[in-house]
Order: sequence, then structure tokens, then C-alpha cells
Amino acid sequence: MQILVTGGAGYIGSHTCVALLEAGHTVIVADNLCNSKAETIDKIKQIVNQGNEANMDNKITFYKIDVTDEVAVEKVFSNHKLDGVIHFAGLKAVGESVEKPLAYYYNNLVSTIVLSKMCLKYGVNKFVFSSSATVYGDNTVPFVETMQLLPTTNPYGETKVMSERILTDAIKANPDFSVSLLRYFNPVGAHESGLIGEAPNGIPNNLMPYVTQVAKGKLEKLRVFGNDYPTVDGTGVRDYIHVMDLADGHVVALDNLSNGVHIYNLGTGQGTSVLQLVKAFEEANGIEIPYEIVDRRPGDIASCYADASKAERKLKWIAKRDIVEMCLDSWRFEQQNK
Ligand code: NAD
Ligand code: UDP
Repeated sequence: MQILVTGGAGYIGSHTCVALLEAGHTVIVADNLCNSKAETIDKIKQIVNQGNEANMDNKITFYKIDVTDEVAVEKVFSNHKLDGVIHFAGLKAVGESVEKPLAYYYNNLVSTIVLSKMCLKYGVNKFVFSSSATVYGDNTVPFVETMQLLPTTNPYGETKVMSERILTDAIKANPDFSVSLLRYFNPVGAHESGLIGEAPNGIPNNLMPYVTQVAKGKLEKLRVFGNDYPTVDGTGVRDYIHVMDLADGHVVALDNLSNGVHIYNLGTGQGTSVLQLVKAFEEANGIEIPYEIVDRRPGDIASCYADASKAERKLKWIAKRDIVEMCLDSWRFEQQNK
């Protein structure tokens, strides 16, 4: 199939491009590079074609465009006979979304509206959307797709709830359209080559990139946000999933799309606390991670992990890579690329 991947130069998008190309699909990337670099496209080619990038030119095409720009997006739809869209492009920093709510609502909602409008206009009826476990709010773990969603605590989370709603309503009015809403848990890790991975600007907000920067000596020590949660050791519990497992999840979601809206959790189903992740990283890589316990981070919930059984039942997809592999691959990328 010929797939438009918005945000394909970003962290999850780039790994998904690799998985799509390896599965034999052709990829059109649309990214404005607001949080990524064009050289990632060359690295994707390098991974897939093992050094012979020239052969990849007809397999992956890159458009540096903003996907809120309807005219620019329409050109892509008219230039290529697309079979589907995977929509990763979005702003994703929770804290920043509180400071710049309008920028977040505009970017994340207008992009979804423009892309779904173009899909309907050009008869592209497969749409896969990057949602998030944040839509569950502070529900009881494990989170199941059928749960009633609870309020989110920030504009970023609201953009995911609203985008899910927009796409669901678009389906009701257009029954030939098919959408997969993929609710990701906590993506970490990197491609095993170490060529692509997560490279946040400035001081990382997320745990794993913070840990790898402490390991490298760029940051002095990890601050563990709270050790008084009702969890195994008092620190926050999350469902960390290897980004290549997540990428594979997109390929199977696309292959299995049928009319209607389909919601899937993409997680491992395993909760890991902050201190358990630190210990796993230390053991996997033989590096000590100094840390101190500080106050809870506002807006954090105690525990968030998936009931991942629906994706296994319906898509025959399960996350295969364990926490050790996540720690090894995250560290390899940090060493090779920063
Ligand atoms: P990322 O920032 O690495 O990738 C997003 C990409 O989209 C970037 O390359 C950026 O340049 C591009 N982009 C943003 N706005 C754009 C626009 N208007 N037009 C064109 N390109 C634009 O983020 P990621 O971690 O790869 O996340 C991808 C998607 O998954 C996002 O929608 C995010 O909200 C969602 N998600 C991420 C996580 C996570 O922890 N990383 C968890 C749940 C959901
Ligand atoms: N966390 C932490 N120190 C950090 C970053 C994160 O203790 O520097 C904790 C955070 O409180 C949460 C877990 O690590 O319990 C995962 O946080 P992250 O920001 O990676 O993901 P999210 O909170 O979005 O699930």
C-alpha cells in the first residue's frame, strides 16, 4: 500500500516508516520538522536498505509541509494515489500545552480535520490515529478500551480526546471510512541500529531520555517525582513499550482495518515503577544512575498500564521486547547520536 505518514520524521513516526517499508509498503512522509530533522529520512533509508540509500528513492518521499495547511496537504493527496494515512504529526509536550493551549488545539485538531477531510475527498478510507493512554484520565488500572474516559488534566490530553471524537463522528457520517484509534502507553527504546531514536530538545520531560542523559553525564542526577504513591515502591507506575513494537502495531492495525472505528491499547500490559526502571537500566547497561526523591509532579497519576488483550485477540499483535531491550536500545541511541 501507499501510506501517507504525517510526522514521519519524528520519534514514533520514523520507526513506523522503517516497519512499513520492511513490510513492503511505500511511504510518503509529511512533516514540518518543528520537532525533528530532515536527516532522519536518510537514516530510515539507510536502515531499510542497509547502506544502499539510492534504491530507496521510489519507496519513501518526503514533503516538508505543515499538515494544518490544507492547500499543501491537498497537493500531496493529488500527487499520490494513497491507500491510507497514519497521522502522527502533533505537538506532544504536556507542560507546554498548559502554557500554549491555543497552539496545541490549533495544531493537533486542525491537522486531524484537514487530513480526514482530504481522505473523504480523495476516497482514502484507511486512517490510523496516534492517540494516548492519557485519554483514560485517572481510571482504575489496567485501562481497557471499553472504559468511560475520565477528565484529562491538560490541553494536550484534551486534543487526543477531541481528535478521537472528531474521527468517530466523521465515521458515523461516512460509513465507508475506517479508523483505528491507537492509544499508546509509554514508548521508549530505539531502533537496534542506534540510528534513529528519541532526541528531545532541551532538558527531557520523560523518564527514559532523562535517565540516558544522566548515564551520559549530561545531567547530574535523576529527580524521582514522588515516592508516596500507592504502588509497589511508592514511585509512579507506567507501561513502557518498545518503540519498534509500537511501530509493528501500526502495520498490523493498518493491514486489519475494516469499516468503522476501532480502538486499541498499544502497551505491554506490564506496569514498571520509576525505581524498577532505574534498576533495570543500571543492570542492563552496567551504569549507576544517581537519583533523589523530590515532590510529586503536578498532574501525574499513580499508575497507568494497559489491558493489551484486545490487540492480541483482534490483531494478533503483542509487544515482544522486554524492559532490558528497551534500556539497551535507549542507551545505544543516546551514545551514538547526541
Ligand atoms: P515527535 O515530536 O517526535 O513527532 C511528531 C512529528 O510531527 C515531529 O516530527 C514534528 O516535526 C511533526 N509535526 C508536528 N506538528 C506538525 C504539523 N502541523 N505539520 C507537520 N508536521 C508536524 O513525537 P512522537 O513521540 O513521535 O509522537 C507522535 C504522535 O504520537 C504524536 O501525535 C503524539 O501526541 C503521540 N503520542 C506520543 C507519545 C509519546 O510518549 N511519545 C505517547 C502517546 C501519544
Ligand atoms: N518521572 C520522574 N522523573 C523524571 C521524569 C519522569 O520521576 O524526570 C516519572 C513520572 O512521575 C512518571 C514516570 O516517571 O511516574 C513516567 O513519566 P513520563 O514523563 O516519562 O511519562 P508520563 O508521565 O507521560 O506517563
